[in-house]
Amino acid sequence: MTPPAVRAAPDADAAWAALAKALEDTEPPCAGDDLFTADSPSKDDQEFMRNLCAMCPLLAECASYALAAKPAAGYWAGRRYGKPRAKPKTTSTTADRTASGTHHQ
Ligand code: SF4
Repeated sequence: MTPPAVRAAPDADAAWAALAKALEDTEPPCAGDDLFTADSPSKDDQEFMRNLCAMCPLLAECASYALAAKPAAGYWAGRRYGKPRAKPKTTSTTADRTASGTHHQ
């Protein structure tokens, strides 16, 4: 199993190895749930995930990995990682976006 893309951390590899080993025996409640990788989960969704993580049997291993690796995105061990996606500007016009050289906001 390959760890997800993360910023470098000295003990992240060891923490990932421990989490991967735990995952061999136990399926966490977040398995296959796209909510944990959603770009902009609602507050209710975040509370739902936080509660799910609180009763997860892999919480300790997941938290150790996330604290060491600081994942670039996603919800790990009851906490959101990465920067929330910026809200789109609603006051700019097409001309504004064209003038700034981008059409993505
Ligand atoms: S603690 Fe980690 S493995 Fe467990 S449900 Fe939360 S994100 Fe998934």
